[in-house]
Amino acid sequence: LQKERRIVQEAHEYSAKLYHYMLQNLEISKPAKDYLRSRGLGEPLIEQFGIGYAPPRWDTLTQALARKGYSEAEMEAGGLLSRRQESDGYVDRFRDRIMFPIHDARGQTIAFAGRLLSDGQPKYLNSPETALFSKSRTLYRLHEARSAIRKSGQVVLLEGYMDVIKAWSAGIHNGVATMGTALTSEHAAILRRFADEAVICYDGDDAGQAAAQKSIPLLEEAGFRVRVCLLPNRMDPDEYVSAYGPEPFLREIVEGAVSAVKFQLIYLRKSHILLEEDGRIRYLRDAVRIVARRDSPMERELLLKELAQEFGVALETLKQECYEIRQRDK
Ligand code: ATP
Ligand code: MN
Ligand code: MN
Ligand code: MN
Repeated sequence: LQKERRIVQEAHEYSAKLYHYMLQNLEISKPAKDYLRSRGLGEPLIEQFGIGYAPPRWDTLTQALARKGYSEAEMEAGGLLSRRQESDGYVDRFRDRIMFPIHDARGQTIAFAGRLLSDGQPKYLNSPETALFSKSRTLYRLHEARSAIRKSGQVVLLEGYMDVIKAWSAGIHNGVATMGTALTSEHAAILRRFADEAVICYDGDDAGQAAAQKSIPLLEEAGFRVRVCLLPNRMDPDEYVSAYGPEPFLREIVEGAVSAVKFQLIYLRKSHILLEEDGRIRYLRDAVRIVARRDSPMERELLLKELAQEFGVALETLKQECYEIRQRDK
C-alpha cells in the first residue's frame, strides 16, 4: 500500500541519517572510520556517498525507530529489523557494519548494504527484497550518475559499491553497480534510456570475467554498443585505483576498453591451448564463430584479417569458414 511504502521510505531516510551521524560522531565508530581511511575513503567521499556505521549492539536502530513511533513489524517487513531467533521481539538487521545507503532512481533511500570491517561472512549484507527494493531493478548510484550517463551517452558498469566510489573519485561519474547480483535485462532496459554505449568494468578475476562474458549479449540485445575493460593481475577497479591512481584508471583502463568482440576473442583464448596445433584449430574455429555473429561485413573482414595474420592462415579460408557458419545459422 502507498501509505506503508511511504512509512518504510521515511524510516530508511531516518536510518541513513542515523548511521551516518553515528559514523561521524560516536567514539565506538573509530575502527569503522579507520577502516574507511585505510581503503582510501576520506571525509569528502564519506559525505558524498552518505556512508554510515551500524554499531555492534543488537538494538541501536530498533530503539531509535521505536522512539520515532515506527512499528517493529513494519520495519521488519521493510528490511531494517530482524525477528529474534530464540524469543519474541526484534533486533537490528545490520550490526557492526559499514553502511552504504542504496537509492532508487529518484534518489530516495530504499535499502542498505552493510560491509564487515574484517574478514567474515557474509562480507556484504544487503537489505532483503521489499515493497520498495527490488535487486533486479536497482542500480547503485543511478540517481547521481544519471546526468553524466546522459551527457556522455555512456554508462560504466562496475561490480561493487567500493568500485563505484573509487571510480567516482577518479572522475568516472557515469558509473553504477548491481547489488552483488548479475546484470538483468531490466537493468539494461533502464540504462538504455540514458545511453547507447555500455563499458563493462568488472573485476579482473575469473568470476568478473565470466560475468562480463554473460553481460555482453544481454546489453547488446538491449541495443547497447559494448566495450569491456581489461584489468591486470585479477585486480578490481577499487584495487587498481588504489595501486596506480586515478589517471591510469581513466586513460588506460576505461578509455582503453576493448570492443565486445575483442573481449570475447581474448576470453576464448583462456580455454584453448594455443601451443598445440589442434588447440589452435579449435580456437580459430570458435573465434570465427564469434566473428560470424557480427552484423557488419567490414567489421567481420577486419577481425578475420587479424586472425589470418596471427595464425598464418589465408584470409580467404577464414572468410569461407565464416560464410558457411552464417549460412548455417541463418
Ligand atoms: P570489497 O572491496 O569491499 O572487498 P568487493 O566489491 O571487491 O568488496 P567482491 O567480492 O568483488 O567485493 O564482490 C562484488 C560485489 O558482490 C560486492 O560489492 C557486493 O555487492 C557483492 N557481494 C560480495 N560478497 C557478498 C556477499 N557475501 N553477500 C552479498 N553480496 C556480496
Ligand atoms: Mn555529515
Ligand atoms: Mn571486487
Ligand atoms: Mn574490492
